[in-house]
Amino acid sequence: MRLDRFLSETTELTRSLAKKAMHRGEVCVNHEIVKNPATQVDTDHIVTWNGERLSLVGLRYVMLNKPVGVECTARRGLYPRVVDLIDLPKAERLQPVGRLDVDTTGLLLLTDDGQWSHRVSSPKRRFGKVYRATLAEALTGESLEQAVRRFAKGIELESEEVPMRPAELVMRSDTEAQLTLYEGKYHQVKRMFAAIGRHVEALHREAIGPLTLDASLPPGDWRELDALEIAAFT
Ligand code: URA
Repeated sequence: MRLDRFLSETTELTRSLAKKAMHRGEVCVNHEIVKNPATQVDTDHIVTWNGERLSLVGLRYVMLNKPVGVECTARRGLYPRVVDLIDLPKAERLQPVGRLDVDTTGLLLLTDDGQWSHRVSSPKRRFGKVYRATLAEALTGESLEQAVRRFAKGIELESEEVPMRPAELVMRSDTEAQLTLYEGKYHQVKRMFAAIGRHVEALHREAIGPLTLDASLPPGDWRELDALEIAAFT
């Protein structure tokens, strides 16, 4: 691949800015300054820009504390996109691992590793997604017992041909529910509570499988996962 293209694939530089960076002597291939944008490089070459090693194969894994009012879509629309919050080169290449609604907060994983993403979301792997739902009305007594049973058995939802997979419901207070799901259907938590006559006022995802939202991340902040966190899903 041409060096200017390599730079545009691995940094935020366009090809013309990459050429300028090369012209300024900021780009090295195998420790030598290279100014010719047509120089051919491949994954065996050590390419640096301002001393930072660039890699085509580097897959990225990010944890975001998703705030309200941000969308998990790739297209620009009414709301800002989650990828707009992530200050990494080519952040738009990161795909959310499952989606959260625009008004849902909490743990969102993003990656450009399609296989990893598939593993994390596959119902077969049983990585439970733990949600905290704030209900508009209390859920207690007999209604709660029925809800726990219906969720555990697999509740039927309108416009779904098969029942939902068994889910675990625990109340933390009369109106604060913890629900663990093993799949991710559209508006699933809100629809499950609607099916038992409860409106969800606020929804927050706390954990996915072995990974809990980092308590040091304020809403809108993100960090890359470390090697152990990535490997926890294999
Ligand atoms: N279930 C919902 O209803 N919304 C979400 O954002 C995630 C799960």
